[in-house]
Amino acid sequence: MKKMIIKELLGDYKKILHHDITVQGWVRAFRSNRFIALNDGSTMANLQIVVDFENFDKDTISKISVASSLKITGEVVESQGSGQVIEIIAKKIVILGDNFTEERDKTILQPKKHSLEVLREQAHLRFRTNLFSAVFRVRSAVSFAIHEFYNKNHFFYINTPIITGADAEGAGEMFSVTNFDLNNIPRNEEGEIDYTEDFFGKKTNLTVSGQLEAETAAMGLGRVYTFGPTFRAENSNTTRHLAEFWMVEPEVAFNNLENNIDLAEDFLKYVISYVLKNCAEDLEFLNSRFADEQKQKPEKDRAKEGLIEKLENVIKKRFMRVSYTEAIEILMNSKENKKGKFQYPVDRWGIDLQSEHERFLVEKHFESPVVLFDYPKEIKAFYMRLNDDNKTVAAMDVLFPGIGEIIGGSQREERLDVLKAKMQDMNVDEHELWWYMDTRKFGSVPHAGFGLGLERLVLFVTGMTNIRDVIPFPRTPKNAEF
Ligand code: ATP
Ligand code: MN
Repeated sequence: MKKMIIKELLGDYKKILHHDITVQGWVRAFRSNRFIALNDGSTMANLQIVVDFENFDKDTISKISVASSLKITGEVVESQGSGQVIEIIAKKIVILGDNFTEERDKTILQPKKHSLEVLREQAHLRFRTNLFSAVFRVRSAVSFAIHEFYNKNHFFYINTPIITGADAEGAGEMFSVTNFDLNNIPRNEEGEIDYTEDFFGKKTNLTVSGQLEAETAAMGLGRVYTFGPTFRAENSNTTRHLAEFWMVEPEVAFNNLENNIDLAEDFLKYVISYVLKNCAEDLEFLNSRFADEQKQKPEKDRAKEGLIEKLENVIKKRFMRVSYTEAIEILMNSKENKKGKFQYPVDRWGIDLQSEHERFLVEKHFESPVVLFDYPKEIKAFYMRLNDDNKTVAAMDVLFPGIGEIIGGSQREERLDVLKAKMQDMNVDEHELWWYMDTRKFGSVPHAGFGLGLERLVLFVTGMTNIRDVIPFPRTPKNAEF
């Protein structure tokens, strides 16, 4: 018998109308001992199975309940009822596995509403819910669209190491990688840890960014991107930070800052358009969930646009491009700042922007995605290109409503002497990064790139609000279950 997944079946049912087929999935509902709503994860929609219980043995029927796994063979017919186009008249039903209903009712599979917190504690089961299956289908589509965008634009996908020997990437706190027996760590005569005895013969960490390695690849392949897991040991328990997240990092030879901003804008718009076009059903669901969420909030905190509307507006408008200096002026002169509404007052040029400032610019002042550029050199990484004013670097951050920073990037410092001077100022050991320095010695060229946090983009397109709900198994301080 032809096996089909529900998405295929619903998409192309005319050809198989009145034929027998086999479907497999999990029971979402079993009404009146007659109608099974079967879901196999391929799509939001359930397939209706009509069971004429007189044709089946009582024992089998009595074992079917919510969460049961079934294999059903039957005829595809046009549905009598409303709510679905087709249904299957069951001819054969096989129960594939056990379903312990008493234990099930202690989990989120019990058919009732559960809070996001409880769902998170049972992350291994939440794939079975409408909400999380939608979120993870969209996440998959976002990842696919990312690869498609870069592929269409003649980029090469490269894999940079997850275990890195470079201690100086400068993007955040790192996790150490070691195979030392932690109860018996080798020490040298000075009593310091002797890393020459460690697995790699030196101190190693989990990567915080693949950028430095990606830069070396761009110096031969031209246009490259990395897309992989990234780790930060920052103890920041926020709704936008994970200890393990996925980052996309394009790096492009011959690009300047403006090209870099154009690339970031085209890229974000491409992925969002892709999701609008290819995830319509899941987005409809997320859209109504988003609308329900808004209703729970006090009027002043409600989003002005629906989820789908928000996505459509983002791809229509050109992102605002604003220099750091202009942004500081706007912030300093804002009513919020003058009335002391910011937790961190904006009192001078040179301060690092806090997320409350970024969100003010995006959500209140410009009401649009904003690209900030030309930041003070002191608050940005050593590899960012020094501008002619000697005060700022060619950095850029893309800020999104409800999210804050979604992309951070820059044109890179390609001039060896300037790079060396900056590294010295910022206490970065150039000998440790000898291979990075080499790229500035043999045909150095202007180049630029950025990093996008995948989960922040998935937050934006799904309308979810906690980053723990857009990665299957979140890693956060004090939490590494599963
Ligand atoms: P933030 O200021 O929001 O902590 P950052 O400036 O430290 O971010 P970058 O080093 O610029 O981040 O990293 C590039 C992108 O990676 C960010 O714009 C963001 O989308 C994402 N990102 C950074 N840190 C995290 C994290 N801990 N969890 C999830 N995504 C992250
Ligand atoms: Mn950043």
